[in-house]
Amino acid sequence: MRAIQVIRHGGPEVLEFGTVDDPTPAPDEVLVRTAATGVNFIDTYLRRGLYPSVPPYIPGTEGAGEVVAVGSDVDSVAVGQRVCWVDAPASYAELVAVRAVRAIPVPDRVPDDVAGSAMLRGLTAHYLLDGSAHPRSGDAVLIHAGAGGVGLILTQLAKLRGLRVITTVSDDEKATLSTAAGADHVLRYSDGLAEQVRSLTDGNGVRVVYDGVGADTFEQSLASTALRGIVVLFGAASGPVPPFDLQRLNGAGSLSVTRPTLAHFIADPEELRWRAGEFLGAVADGDVDVRVGQRYRLADAGAAHTDLESRATTGATVLIPS
Ligand code: NDP
Repeated sequence: MRAIQVIRHGGPEVLEFGTVDDPTPAPDEVLVRTAATGVNFIDTYLRRGLYPSVPPYIPGTEGAGEVVAVGSDVDSVAVGQRVCWVDAPASYAELVAVRAVRAIPVPDRVPDDVAGSAMLRGLTAHYLLDGSAHPRSGDAVLIHAGAGGVGLILTQLAKLRGLRVITTVSDDEKATLSTAAGADHVLRYSDGLAEQVRSLTDGNGVRVVYDGVGADTFEQSLASTALRGIVVLFGAASGPVPPFDLQRLNGAGSLSVTRPTLAHFIADPEELRWRAGEFLGAVADGDVDVRVGQRYRLADAGAAHTDLESRATTGATVLIPS
């Protein structure tokens, strides 16, 4: 099969397209012919060596496609079924082995590119609202990178729950997208951001800040949070947040800070199925509109990484193995 490999840690140039052996499904796995592969920030952290990984390896954890073979112990998934997944290694490839218990059936009304590139972001948005924090109807929240893959979905899910949503974006096009997703107020990043957030919330600040940008936004996130509120630091698009003195949370208003990761909110297959069912159901019913902003051929994965890391993308990013 054809696949992308990370041949050493480094920039997008270390992604090499070539031919490798087909995977053989283990007894509890299914083999999927990939129709769409999601490109996520975690793929870039691993490629750079920011998170542990040992090259050479095939990157990617997310995709969608048709089951072409099943392992000897599998009776829950059948050949010919459309499935998607968020946590199978080696997904930048034409064939991917996926544990049957982690293969999620795709509703007919959800296209391959959406199922293959929005599940990881969609399940993240789901647990951010119902897992790492629990904002209630009427609460104000701040979502950084409101026009990003997670940001657009999180905004829509937050509005469905009756939250008041303030977002940040870096340019006019992204502001338009964030507004269309339902954001009540769209702001630009600035040193005065927290003051703007407070003036939109009667001086109180927001109940929850969702910060996937990290280094560049964390201080403003703290300053934007209401008494006893929570900063959910869930990513590091601009770099990791430096070491932090916990005593500051006292002076800032008895705040909480959490640093969650999706894997811990879908480890139990039942929880995975619940979150996936709710998210895919909302997409299939038209309650959440997933924007696949960029499509690349599998061979052009390097360009996809370059664009994602340079803030040139909106919504989800997908590779098509064709
Ligand atoms: P996005 O589509 O949101 O892309 C990142 C966005 O961050 C950019 O488009 C940009 O938007 C903003 N940004 C601000 N500063 C920078 C910078 N210096 N370099 C790059 N981007 C910057 O990505 P995803 O939706 O895929 O992921 C969003 C975040 O969520 C990432 O940090 C990712 O790691 C994290 N994540 C965390 C998960 C978890 O469970 N913890 C799971 C999934 C994702 P703008 O130009 O508007 O500022």
